[in-house]
Amino acid sequence: MSEKVRIAFYALTSCYGCQLQFAMMDEILQLLPKAEIVCWYMLERDSKEVEPVDIAFIEGSVSTEEEAELVKEVREKSKIVVAVGACATQGGVQSWTDKPLDELWKTVYGDGKVKFQPKMAEPVEKYIKVDYKIYGCPPEKRDFIYALGTLLIGSWPEDIDYPVCLECRLNGNSCILIEKGEPCLGPLTRAGCNARCPGFGVACIGCRGAIGYDVAWFDSLAKTFKEKGLTKEEILERMKIFNAHNPKLEEMVEKVFQGVRE
Ligand code: SF4
Ligand code: SF4
Ligand code: SF4
Repeated sequence: MSEKVRIAFYALTSCYGCQLQFAMMDEILQLLPKAEIVCWYMLERDSKEVEPVDIAFIEGSVSTEEEAELVKEVREKSKIVVAVGACATQGGVQSWTDKPLDELWKTVYGDGKVKFQPKMAEPVEKYIKVDYKIYGCPPEKRDFIYALGTLLIGSWPEDIDYPVCLECRLNGNSCILIEKGEPCLGPLTRAGCNARCPGFGVACIGCRGAIGYDVAWFDSLAKTFKEKGLTKEEILERMKIFNAHNPKLEEMVEKVFQGVRE
């Protein structure tokens, strides 16, 4: 291994917003004595070779066969793989559909020809082992600083296991769910954004993903939403914006409408 930690930043199907957030950090300059950025899709269009690195960041959802192959190659050549942002960690808003791929394809491309083989958008972890995840759409600047800084000193960053509500209440915000009856997803969404949206009076839509499966109480929140007049379809639609691939979501919401959690 060279003296500097070798870093690469790859992008799959995404808006490049996570990379932009990373690029906007002045703190990156302070990393240069310790790290060498050998590949960065956003800044260098020719940097698409997969090289051996110490840390690979991957932005975007796996949405083509080619991307599925790319992430496997990245995994083989990287010591640590970090999935970055809601697209890479949860599949992103592009996973938020009940329509089949053929129908989506026709709507967007018609009979047009493309050079890739499409798939339904999925999180990177569906294809390879991911060592760490940085959540958010895009992640907060401090998420990057914490993860990268910790990895660069040879330690390991911790995950956040408490919900947005905690930060929201600490900030003294009035509760949009209780006081306005709006379907805020703060109770089951991973904190770390300092309750950004409720701080502006807007209900959380869950971009940082649901906290761990055993503590993300989709059923409890679905019961509350139901009491406020939302239908099962409305609840599922809301919860799936950023959690479409969560294996517990449908089952837990279904319980509420089958009377198990009346
Ligand atoms: S997570 Fe959000 S900001 Fe990042 S690439 Fe996906 S859509 Fe863009
Ligand atoms: S506004 Fe949302 S995040 Fe804040 S306390 Fe209420 S439910 Fe939780
Ligand atoms: S409040 Fe919710 S939607 Fe808004 S940034 Fe935080 S996690 Fe994302």
